[in-house]
Amino acid sequence: MTRRRAPMAKAKRLTQARVDILWEQAQEHVKSGKPNLARQKMLSARKIAQKTRTKMPRHISRRICKTCGTILVPGDTCRVRVRHNRSKHVVVTCLDCGAVKRYYI
Ligand SMILES: [Zn+2]
Repeated sequence: MTRRRAPMAKAKRLTQARVDILWEQAQEHVKSGKPNLARQKMLSARKIAQKTRTKMPRHISRRICKTCGTILVPGDTCRVRVRHNRSKHVVVTCLDCGAVKRYYI
């Protein structure tokens, strides 16, 4: 007998719960000074989300570097600047790998 795959709605619900758990664990690792463990947690969270094609919640996706997976903490692992040369936007620079992300307002 072949193993049946969980229905997509159920899989997405499980993914959201799993991503939330991994996010909380990653934040605890950041607080206790283990950034590499936190990065691992978030890379696996992203992998799970991609597998079920679930969007990462915005409050999580904006706190992770898309290039290296570092948890972005303003003043610690990232630099946040407000610019307005063409239109107003916020520039977030990862201090680990130098990746730049712009959020237009
Ligand atoms: Zn980075």
